[in-house]
Amino acid sequence: MTGILDKQLEPIVAKVESGQRLSLSDGLALYASRDIFTIGRLADHVRRVRHGRVAWYIANRHINYTNVCVLRCKFCGFCRKPNSEAADAYVLAADQVVEQAALGYADGATEVHIVGGLHPTLPFAYYREIISRIRTICPRMAIKAFTAVEIVHFSRISKPRRSIEQVLAELKECGLDCMPGGGAEIFDDRVQAEAFPYKVGEHDWFAVHRAAHDLGIPTNATMLYGHIETSAQRLGHLVKLREHQDESLQRGKGVFNCMVPLSFVPADNTDWADLPGPSGLDDLKTLAICRLMLDNFSHIKAFWPIQTIKLAQVALGWGVDDFDGTVVWYDITKREGQGTHQHLGTEQLRRLICEAGYEPLERDCFYNAVERSGTQWSLAGR
Ligand code: SF4
Repeated sequence: MTGILDKQLEPIVAKVESGQRLSLSDGLALYASRDIFTIGRLADHVRRVRHGRVAWYIANRHINYTNVCVLRCKFCGFCRKPNSEAADAYVLAADQVVEQAALGYADGATEVHIVGGLHPTLPFAYYREIISRIRTICPRMAIKAFTAVEIVHFSRISKPRRSIEQVLAELKECGLDCMPGGGAEIFDDRVQAEAFPYKVGEHDWFAVHRAAHDLGIPTNATMLYGHIETSAQRLGHLVKLREHQDESLQRGKGVFNCMVPLSFVPADNTDWADLPGPSGLDDLKTLAICRLMLDNFSHIKAFWPIQTIKLAQVALGWGVDDFDGTVVWYDITKREGQGTHQHLGTEQLRRLICEAGYEPLERDCFYNAVERSGTQWSLAGR
């Protein structure tokens, strides 16, 4: 690569070009550099080696079954207290969840993505029921559901109490295909004690993902960045994910499908409402550094409701190969001016990707290419 402005990056460029793994100190040098274009070109080189000019998107539908949660993570503007009198506290009945999934299926969605707060009284049977019924009514739609935090909660509230492995095995039996990566935040004791002291930490998050992978359930990974953590803590988080992926790849069952870096969005009704959140350059740099550090992850996603449509589009040139999807309805993070209706049509997604200079390719939950005609779809070549 020519035209490297920051000479400190030259050894890192050489390592990446020769396929060597980057160290935590390489990551720190990347974060310390202001040569954002070299970092972007390097990440783009890696994504092009893996994916050429393809950028993936998916026709999916998100469902958040409740915003009632027993926890109070400092960054969370989504949760409402149990017994809250807030007019916007809600719990969807199983019928409503199934109905929303069925609407998505009829509309051609290939995946439903289901997550919610940690509700104090919903029984484990509720979660089993929604997965089983969606599996029956929407047989071809992949069900991606429940973060590691929810799985640990189900383990605690189930009667008789179940282990993490039992919870996952039962949900898989009901029809669970895949799991999102939420709840990871930042794997660091100081950050956890300050920001989400009662939430499951690193140990339990990895225990859930290890158990899921051992059952052959692929999962995603996330990192919530841009609040009180340092660059070193972000990199420590990435190195831990990379080590876990090495183990999962070695065991040869389930793996992390995708890394989803989540840019912190300060929410009005939270303790962290006044934090500034990351800048656009920090977002681009972090997405690129995820691509460079996570050499054993196939995909890096810019989840557009959080990264914004504009930044997600630019990020395709900074190591990102996945724009995520149609989403339709998303309640967890709302940027200024956004409501719960957060929808991009497949044609809009294709246009945004083309405009950025990449080739849009629809995928299913497992990154199989999809051929589509309106709401009808099939896996390419099948
Ligand atoms: S981030 Fe999740 S666990 Fe934490 S308060 Fe919000 S809904 Fe609850």
